[in-house]
Amino acid sequence: PIHDAVLGRAAEYGDTPALVDGSGAEGAPTLTYAQVDAFHRLVAAGLAETGVRKGDVLALHSPNTVLFPVAFYAATRAGAAVTTVHPLATPEEFAKQLRDSSARWIVTVSPLLPAARAAAELAGGIEEIFLCDQPPAGENVRSLQAFLGSTGPVPGIEVDPDEDVAALPYSSGTTGVPKGVMLTHTSMATNLAQLEPFVPMGPGDRILAVLPFFHIYGLTALMNAPLRQGATVVVQPRFELDAFLRAVQEHRINGLYVAPPIVLALAKHPAVADYDLSSLEYVVSAAAPLDAALAEACSKRLGLPPVRQAYGMTELSPGTHVVPLDAETPPPGTVGRLLPSTEMRILSLDDPAKDAAPGEEGEIAIRGPQVMKGYLGRPDATAAMIDAEGWVHTGDVGRVDGDGWLFVVDRVKELIKYKGFQVAPAELEALLLTHEGIADAAVIGVTGDDGTEIPKAFVVRQPSAPGLTAEEVVAHVAARVSPYKKVRAVEFVDTVPRAASGKILRRELRQRS
Ligand code: ATP
Ligand code: MG
Repeated sequence: PIHDAVLGRAAEYGDTPALVDGSGAEGAPTLTYAQVDAFHRLVAAGLAETGVRKGDVLALHSPNTVLFPVAFYAATRAGAAVTTVHPLATPEEFAKQLRDSSARWIVTVSPLLPAARAAAELAGGIEEIFLCDQPPAGENVRSLQAFLGSTGPVPGIEVDPDEDVAALPYSSGTTGVPKGVMLTHTSMATNLAQLEPFVPMGPGDRILAVLPFFHIYGLTALMNAPLRQGATVVVQPRFELDAFLRAVQEHRINGLYVAPPIVLALAKHPAVADYDLSSLEYVVSAAAPLDAALAEACSKRLGLPPVRQAYGMTELSPGTHVVPLDAETPPPGTVGRLLPSTEMRILSLDDPAKDAAPGEEGEIAIRGPQVMKGYLGRPDATAAMIDAEGWVHTGDVGRVDGDGWLFVVDRVKELIKYKGFQVAPAELEALLLTHEGIADAAVIGVTGDDGTEIPKAFVVRQPSAPGLTAEEVVAHVAARVSPYKKVRAVEFVDTVPRAASGKILRRELRQRS
């Protein structure tokens, strides 16, 4: 079971701080390993006594706090599957997830209680809403902390790790509607064991959890993996650059697991120079394409070894490739090497029944113990994703070099077909970011005047470059790519829409175009 895979060594780590509140609030709590272990058992007992049964779905709706992992492991120990919910979901979005997952219980935090109540009302079928924190005055709602005084028996639930669902995260919805991904205890626990030799941690390591636990990347890299290995996790509720940099300085963070927008900020933002970041030893980036030049600018500026990338997806628990921390000279731009006990094929883009030629680009297919059980209630979508031989067709385009390093080009669906040529938005976005006057950028395919698909760039100007023109943007890219890859339309925007996991929401840009 995932709670044992993570907390099985908690007694050994004892008084080591497991979770530290990094929000900067007065009197913020710290939990030791012994406390996390004891608390999650008491809360599991309380949940079981309340009526949580094996197979129930519990919706965990909270920003990152020190009690998020306690609630998560308590729920799985009580036999429930946890569906993690975006804390900023609207009541309608939240209700949709509650209905889709047939959730019976909600755990939230007091500032989000009105949204949780509204969602429960819309969805129906919710037995009780609990809070992680203390209830606001006059509110009739129980806190999980009420269970810490419980003396009831800890439930002896028999979990079948290969069959029972531990987590039910929803995919990011980057390419369509978010789908509920059934991850068993075994698939999640195995992935932790697979990742461990590549990104080892231990007592004394201090990890900053700024990416959300509700997304599979944060859940695995920032919660399960460090807690399994005895590291200290400093928890931040949201990404805000100054608070983030202050936390690195104050808590002497040595390992960062981030997404490309944070690498961008570390490479380019002036505020970075105002903080002492000398405790940092490495930066790992995942969840979206990261350009090699940007990664290098970040590591050079911080005086660190190359930024390590990792690759995965919700459906793969999520990891398949990581650049090992001890790799001295990974080739620039690689997302890593294949994890142990995982197989990969690169399928021809012209004929998916065939493998691409060695070194050639194709669709990445993965097989291994970390593959999801399926999409909840969507057998057709599951069958479209996992073929009869168990291969997951990732929808991502990649190639492997002679030494086994994987490079991710972009998603198959995002490739822009310009007069029969394929253009990867990620490559153009990376080039745009090398321009000094550009703070952020995104590229999509739009229909040009002559009916062909053309690359269009959405560009955020640097405050120092208010006069940057579309012609300059086009010329910057044109000087660096083959003519067919030129950006052919430019729109200046205030921000690039992104998901909480750092991914560009190209469908939002598409709706605007
Ligand atoms: P949905 O499947 O609902 O459309 P999503 O695919 O964005 O959303 P996630 O499971 O969060 O949901 O993201 C997985 C995807 O993220 C991968 O398929 C890949 O496209 C992208 N990705 C992850 N890591 C990397 C990386 N290192 N480089 C490039 N892309 C990455
Ligand atoms: Mg996906």
